[in-house]
Amino acid sequence: MPHPGPPAPLTAIIIGAGMSGLLAAIRLKQAGIQDFVILEQGAEVGGTWADNTYPGAGCDVPSHLYSYSFAPNPGWTRLFARQAEILAYFRRIAADHGLLPHISFGVEVAGAVYDPDTASWTVRDRAGGAWTGRVLLTAVGQLNRPVIPDIPGRDSFAGAQFHSARWDHGVPLAGKRVASIGTGASAVQYVPEIAPLVDRLTIFQRTANWIVPRPDRAIPPAIRRLLASLPPAERALRLAIYLAVEVRWGAFRNRDGWMARYLTRMARRHLEAQIADPALRARLTPHYPIGCKRVLLSNDYYPALTRPNVALVTDPIARLRPEGVELADGRVVPLDVIVWGTGFAATGLLLPIEIVGGGGRRLRDEWARWAEAYRGVAVAGFPNLIVLYGPNTNLGHNSIIYMVERQVDYAMGLIQALRARNLASFEVRAEVQADYNSRLQQELAGTVWAAGCHSWYMQDGRIVNNWSRSTLAFSRMMRRLDLESYRLRGW
Ligand code: NAP
Repeated sequence: MPHPGPPAPLTAIIIGAGMSGLLAAIRLKQAGIQDFVILEQGAEVGGTWADNTYPGAGCDVPSHLYSYSFAPNPGWTRLFARQAEILAYFRRIAADHGLLPHISFGVEVAGAVYDPDTASWTVRDRAGGAWTGRVLLTAVGQLNRPVIPDIPGRDSFAGAQFHSARWDHGVPLAGKRVASIGTGASAVQYVPEIAPLVDRLTIFQRTANWIVPRPDRAIPPAIRRLLASLPPAERALRLAIYLAVEVRWGAFRNRDGWMARYLTRMARRHLEAQIADPALRARLTPHYPIGCKRVLLSNDYYPALTRPNVALVTDPIARLRPEGVELADGRVVPLDVIVWGTGFAATGLLLPIEIVGGGGRRLRDEWARWAEAYRGVAVAGFPNLIVLYGPNTNLGHNSIIYMVERQVDYAMGLIQALRARNLASFEVRAEVQADYNSRLQQELAGTVWAAGCHSWYMQDGRIVNNWSRSTLAFSRMMRRLDLESYRLRGW
């Protein structure tokens, strides 16, 4: 018997079975490509929607828009669906599109190395497994690594502590003295849920956030039936939501424009309507333009702060002690449980994965200061690599699924070109990437994100997460497959 030799490389390896990874897999299958794998470190599809199970978790984008354009869900029970319903949607999508046989769960990718001779990537996991594929698509999201700040004495705390994205449902909160450290998008969702349960809730706020009303409501069964039986109605609703949120881009593009003034007024009125105490209101009023940090949507966060068992602490934290939090002035807040609502390591994208491109270039080194890519998806020096939801593709105002659909379509164009022309590799030209990023950064310099606040959109003074224009502009750009921007190698 002749030796079978090494297995032929797969067409594609996808890292991550969240929203982006599933989408890439669906498009591969629709293109007739079956030889691909999805490597997922968790035990579940859904990415962030599998990770974030904290009470009240939900999406800030209305669900008819926060879903794939080709897979509408007329059955959403609320305008802003909660985590369980969103996770169920992604599970259903994975099953309906026959993706589950392609997914290897519990695979934590350690690194990927590109071999120019075979024009393929070899991906290794931490357990010693290896996969080889022509194209590597990373789909790990921007908000998948929880951060617990290194506050002195953190481990000396005698009670229970956990991060919001790793909610420990085994820790009872009823009747306990609980703290939330952090007041971001996660905290404003779980605070109102846990406040009525606990004995005392202390919320440690470092920076106030702008909060606008959340126009959420249940969708009556009759409307759901109508949307299910009349697909054009569902599409019209999706379009209406898309346009309604897209106009908000104006507030991000021009921090002094009418949309920024309109949103600021809306947020101020919301605060005034819900918080009567002028001193508390003052502490909840941000001192930076709206949009610079993520705008939060909540109807029940401010009311939760007015409960007799809830206290807002704005004094800085000095350290943790076995009995609780010690403030800078020496006062100690005694606690049984600490919830860290302190966000994610959003910059330093892909950092835990060691990606080595042609000629031994390490993505970790290339991105040591700032992560940058071409159109968010391609990186010079890293042939046949597609980064989904990569640098400068995040938004403050619209659905990230819309953005990733454009990226996957563009990536499919590259993969199809590889196959149709029997090419070995594509690699974006370094000068094209440099030009693209210098233009992008010029545009970003005029946006509200550059207004001087501290946000997870920035790394070392540069906006590395967010896209610089409207989603329509992104769509227009991505529609054209600009192969001339790439170095295409034959065999
Ligand atoms: P986040 O927005 O980054 O908020 C982290 C919070 O922790 C901030 O209030 C921050 O204060 C505080 N913090 C961080 N380090 C601290 C320290 N050393 N001492 C005291 N406070 C500290 O994180 P997140 O709330 O998890 O949300 C992250 C992102 O996930 C959101 O922006 C959003 O894009 C997404 N998300 C979306 C939804 C939704 O759609 N509803 C829900 C949850 C999350 P500073 O502001 O002073 O830094």
